[in-house]
Amino acid sequence: MKVQDVEINEPPFHVSTSHGKLLIAQGLVFEVQPTTPNAPVQFFPEMHWAVGTFGYNGEPFISYHCTGCGMHDGRITGAKAYTAKIFHCGVRGGDPVSREVANDFRAAWDRWQATLVKTVTPEQATEDKKPKFELTHFN
Ligand SMILES: [Zn+2]
Repeated sequence: MKVQDVEINEPPFHVSTSHGKLLIAQGLVFEVQPTTPNAPVQFFPEMHWAVGTFGYNGEPFISYHCTGCGMHDGRITGAKAYTAKIFHCGVRGGDPVSREVANDFRAAWDRWQATLVKTVTPEQATEDKKPKFELTHFN
């Protein structure tokens, strides 16, 4: 049988089954199950989402990492970032942003939008004060 020491200091090694069972009973090793070539890799999706902000302009973004597959340093940007899906760990159709983080992001985005100073040219300022008409019918 194939075993590995519990502290994983050594690569897995082969021992006789009786010897292996003795070592397992002593808690020194655990059995390494034989792997099938081309078997699908088993992942355990464990996505972590968070809202962050860029330091240079305060724009919110969604960051993510998955401890299941090791995907890390992911960032989704833009107003619709909360609608994104991330493909990882074989999650069918992609992993959607968690509802809680999506809500946090939308709130952060709205707050950020409110802080943006609108730069208005004098022409636009004058334009805004003019009444607007929309003529759709002529008789
Ligand atoms: Zn993953």
